[in-house]
Amino acid sequence: MLVLKFGGTSVGSVENMTHVKNIINDCTKKVVVLSAMSGTTNALVEISEQIRLKDSESALVLIQQLANRYQNTIEELLNDSALINESQEYVHQVFKGLIELVDLEHTELTYSKVVAQGELLSTFLFSRFLMQEGINAALLPALDFMRIDNNDEPDSFYIKQNLNRILYENNEADIYITQGFICLDVQGNISNLQRGGSDYTASIVGAAIEADEVQIWTDIDGFHNNDPRFVENTTAISNISFDEAAELAYFGAKILHPQTVIPVKDLNIPVRLKNTMSPDSYGTLITHHVHGEGIKLSRQKTVFMLLR
Ligand code: ASP
Repeated sequence: MLVLKFGGTSVGSVENMTHVKNIINDCTKKVVVLSAMSGTTNALVEISEQIRLKDSESALVLIQQLANRYQNTIEELLNDSALINESQEYVHQVFKGLIELVDLEHTELTYSKVVAQGELLSTFLFSRFLMQEGINAALLPALDFMRIDNNDEPDSFYIKQNLNRILYENNEADIYITQGFICLDVQGNISNLQRGGSDYTASIVGAAIEADEVQIWTDIDGFHNNDPRFVENTTAISNISFDEAAELAYFGAKILHPQTVIPVKDLNIPVRLKNTMSPDSYGTLITHHVHGEGIKLSRQKTVFMLLR
């Protein structure tokens, strides 16, 4: 089975959600891990910050702005009245929950509760969209299986046991949707795998189910031979090793969460970076092997050099 993770841009508009639907709807069973819609987690971090600063007015304005965005998304995404009603009710409950946090004392748990809502919203709406389109999908709450231990490391045994049980119980579904980023901590409180952590969720899930491949779908064709944010005419690198990918990620290549390769490396599960906007492009395949092409990071100069 494959694990596919789609980033914030990939689920950031109805048009892009439609691309995602077309990519995943190929009659093969898969787990789909979603980020929050683009901009949402940043907005939630800001809401949490305004609550911490006791600026209730600003927090409420930001909550209202975000709520409006989700109401608009529902109107654009769905046309089935039962699914619209159910989604409106869900979104209403999420934002009601945020409003209830505004005048309470801000703790670390407040932050965790607030920032978790993005992935809960995106997966709920996307799963309803798939239902509307007649796709046999099941929404599997990440909080039912994703847990970190005392050292904030994924609790692999717990995750493996619970995820495989849940997949077995939902065997009739073709597509399993779940939230990236969020998890429970060892006390059972809501927590997360740090910003950008949905990639890490995908590889943890990939390792737990011994997936054939983990695919990270973003808005760029994989790792480039230079940083496309600063250098023109960069090209995608088709094959790199786990170690090179980890090194690039640690040294700031924003495309991949630095810990992503860790859970899958020893199991030799390939990680493929793909572009949702250009699904036919090869992207970058990360394995133990490097096929004559590689990338080396010069730590001193922090430049990427292509080795041929
Ligand atoms: N939504 C979270 C963030 O923006 C996690 C993720 O997208 O990977 O950091």
